[in-house]
Amino acid sequence: MKIYNTLTKKVDTFTPNEENTVRMYTCGPTVYHYAHIGNLRTYIFEDILEKGLEYLGYNVLRVMNVTDVGHLENDSDTGEDKMQKGAEREHKSVYEIADFYERAFFQDCAKLNIRKPKVVERATKHIDTYIKIIENLLDKGYAYISNGNVYFDVSKANNYYELSGKNPDELFVGVRDTVEEDKSKRNPYDFGLWFTVSKFSNQEMKWDSPWGVGYPGWHIECSGISYKFLGEYLDIHCGGVDNIFPHHTNEIAQSEAFLGHKWCNYWVHGEHLNDSTGKMSKSKGEFLTIDLLESKGYNPLAYRYFCLGSHYRNQLVFSYEALDAAENAYKKLKNRIKKLDRTPDLHDDKVDFYKDKFKDAIENDLNTSSMLTVVYDVLKDDELTDFTKLYLIEDFDKVLSLDLIDELEENKISDETESMIMKKIEERNIAKKNKDFATADKIRDELFDKGIRLIDSREGTTYEIIEE
Ligand code: AMP
Ligand code: ZN
Repeated sequence: MKIYNTLTKKVDTFTPNEENTVRMYTCGPTVYHYAHIGNLRTYIFEDILEKGLEYLGYNVLRVMNVTDVGHLENDSDTGEDKMQKGAEREHKSVYEIADFYERAFFQDCAKLNIRKPKVVERATKHIDTYIKIIENLLDKGYAYISNGNVYFDVSKANNYYELSGKNPDELFVGVRDTVEEDKSKRNPYDFGLWFTVSKFSNQEMKWDSPWGVGYPGWHIECSGISYKFLGEYLDIHCGGVDNIFPHHTNEIAQSEAFLGHKWCNYWVHGEHLNDSTGKMSKSKGEFLTIDLLESKGYNPLAYRYFCLGSHYRNQLVFSYEALDAAENAYKKLKNRIKKLDRTPDLHDDKVDFYKDKFKDAIENDLNTSSMLTVVYDVLKDDELTDFTKLYLIEDFDKVLSLDLIDELEENKISDETESMIMKKIEERNIAKKNKDFATADKIRDELFDKGIRLIDSREGTTYEIIEE
């Protein structure tokens, strides 16, 4: 597979450290508010990357954090604490806010067919790991204590500016206006590993540490969680482009200082979703969420289709007109697929040809619009039987996850049938209670003849529709 690597600034051939296994880390949400559809674009891209790698035959070990502590409004340790602000806004505790918005986030993901990574870890659960890493960084001289806080000294890091590709002066110009100077730091880009001297007198989340009661900085959580669950070597690390500096830059600095070797080989970043005025944010303009789109009558998967139409490395501008166009195309596509004849008749002569084309699209720097083109090519190909088309589209949908193939109508049952079955189960239960096994068996057999199989267990009786 070829993939653009922010570290080398070119499209690289992907080779994992361990054959067939990919260790992949993706930065998760800060759960102080709903995710906007821009955030969700990044998670759609990561979902496609994970499923694309699986399609190519890799076993993907993916870990994601959930940020519930330490993330300040400005990524460089200044501004208000996002979680604390969320709690004040809603008159709830920080923990209640975290629970609520984490749940909301995964509900949005489910609506967009974004699969939940197998390992999802809250930042606040791994304080001991961060303390261990910070102690090590202090011992080795990469970190220093100043005014009660622990900071990482970026002048000690190897190639601190490599990932962003910028020199210190350029970066300084970029952030000078927004970063208030923290007098405790030796260099402007030094970043907090552990804060004890908090400017937030009402800080709710705090823990004991060798440096006093306090809380971790934002960046250390990803280094800590990744180390704990994926070990010393990472293959891929993802996030949105705004994460490149300072977040990922700082993750590299502290992880490599701690581990004593190179940490992650491929850094893959998704470009932003913008609105007509520029980068989408939670504080300006209409706060675009999946719920809002649904309340306006859109299918969340039309938004997924909209995202797949553009490459992850291109900025994408959101407008309702563009979403309307995507929804129309998506509906038409689904209708074309619905009309295909499902009579089993698989001709496999061109199956590999199309699977290879689909793989090529994945391998070509995750080209989602080419993946969609393969679906349209299959539909257009008169040499394929309808059943073969369905077979291929179902296969591609493991990656695209657009629910392209509706469940067979015959397998769906109406509410009426459902209540008829429940009534029969009830009658059978009564017969069994009365030891009238002849009647009980008769009810079971009658349902079986109608294509409904009863399943008895200790919890009671359920049913399944018998597949042809
Ligand atoms: P946050 O919850 O603020 O930590 O952000 C979650 C993810 O969304 C991060 O990976 C960001 O890089 C990404 N992100 C933030 N804004 C946008 C945007 N407008 N478009 C795409 N991704 C974004
Ligand atoms: Zn992170």
